[in-house]
Amino acid sequence: MNKSFVKKICALLITLTVLPAPSWAAGYTETKYPIVLAHGLFGFDNIGPVEYWYGIPAALRADGARVYATQVSAANSTEVRGEQLLTQVKQIIAVTGKAKVNLIGHSHGGPTARYVASVRPDLVASVTSVGGVNRGSKVADLLLGIAPDGSLSNAVIVSITNGLATIINFLSGGKGLTQDSLAAAKSLSTAGSLKFNAAHPEGIPTSSCGEGAYQVNGVSYFSWSGAQPYTNILDIIDPALALTSLAFGGAKNDGLVASCSAHLGKVIRDDYAMNHLDEVNQTVGLVNIFETNPVTVYRQHANRLKNQGL
Ligand code: CA
Repeated sequence: MNKSFVKKICALLITLTVLPAPSWAAGYTETKYPIVLAHGLFGFDNIGPVEYWYGIPAALRADGARVYATQVSAANSTEVRGEQLLTQVKQIIAVTGKAKVNLIGHSHGGPTARYVASVRPDLVASVTSVGGVNRGSKVADLLLGIAPDGSLSNAVIVSITNGLATIINFLSGGKGLTQDSLAAAKSLSTAGSLKFNAAHPEGIPTSSCGEGAYQVNGVSYFSWSGAQPYTNILDIIDPALALTSLAFGGAKNDGLVASCSAHLGKVIRDDYAMNHLDEVNQTVGLVNIFETNPVTVYRQHANRLKNQGL
């Protein structure tokens, strides 16, 4: 073998050894407080709370985080879900002996986590909202019969409704709407969200698409979201998300939530090339191969929390 080639290889190996610790170093995700995951609407009740966050809890645990995937009512009001989550947070605190938790909520899980931090800030180190319905969803408005702004034709509204029906059946294992779906839809509507925000304003931006306070009552607030409804030709749910995205009349959205509605506290990014389900690495890891993997985004965030002493 050519000597200079061997030298180059040796130099490369040495360089790799002395470079700063790589992102997969032990302890990379080792946050001070446990990470508690709060699922969204329906919570994929056909697959359970752990698989909802496809591959995410395991990836976070691998480098030191303690992770708990909670389960609350599949479809219910934010307040009912929030009280259920609070009960589980108290149990996790008792089991771990830690004083607080880091809450990460997806979709309706965002407002659900915010509720807990609002009523018991002493138990919460941080709230992170991923694709959170913080200012409502035009898709929920449509479900309640409130037509979106602008001049969507009836044909388009029918398409959106059909897309939504497909998604609801997919997320709920084909069982359709549960009896509390109306309460859920009201909470996720624009009017319902604004009413909730008036009672629980922590971290909510004061302008229509700005950032919110980074810290309120000792709780740190973060958010990120996607802005590409169709991302993977192999994912059977993408065509339905492309249909529901029509409800937003061209505004940046992930198929179910507008980017601006997802804002909470410090906005890490609101334009990942991800749709609403990619944000939790669904369906079973079928995401945009040209975008940062969602699991990596969660790992980076756990490292962010760790570096902030959370
Ligand atoms: Ca996907």
